[in-house]
Amino acid sequence: MRIKMTVKAKASWSTFHRDVVKSAVAYAIDEYGMEDSERSIVVKLIGCEGDHDGAMVKMTKDSFIVWVSSQTAVRKLLYIVFHEMTHVKQAVFDGWTQHDTEDLATWKGEIMPYDVDDDKDYWNAPWEVEARAMGKELRKTYMRKMR
Ligand SMILES: [Zn+2]
Repeated sequence: MRIKMTVKAKASWSTFHRDVVKSAVAYAIDEYGMEDSERSIVVKLIGCEGDHDGAMVKMTKDSFIVWVSSQTAVRKLLYIVFHEMTHVKQAVFDGWTQHDTEDLATWKGEIMPYDVDDDKDYWNAPWEVEARAMGKELRKTYMRKMR
């Protein structure tokens, strides 16, 4: 899996923070065994403070886009990257797809009702539950390893 990184708000992204993101993305690819995947991942570092700290946008069959908004706290930054990289893993291995227009999602071979605008649906969706847990878990093992 190839990593490409683009930086939109150059002033708010120090070399240090860029290196943290790059290193965390590489770590997640390794932990999830995705290095042999033909797909590539584009990490876009943006600067605006929006509703979301991060998002995973499935672009094509062959590549993913992960957005990360500007953050200074490394702990939070690591969580965001590992949360979103878990969604990449889910798309690669778990057949996870959201069909936003039809309020449906596919997860591990099953089609289930899913309304992206419903907070309860969003919070309880199995892929979000896993991404929240793994965001913390990978951060823990990553930080232990980097010490
Ligand atoms: Zn998520």
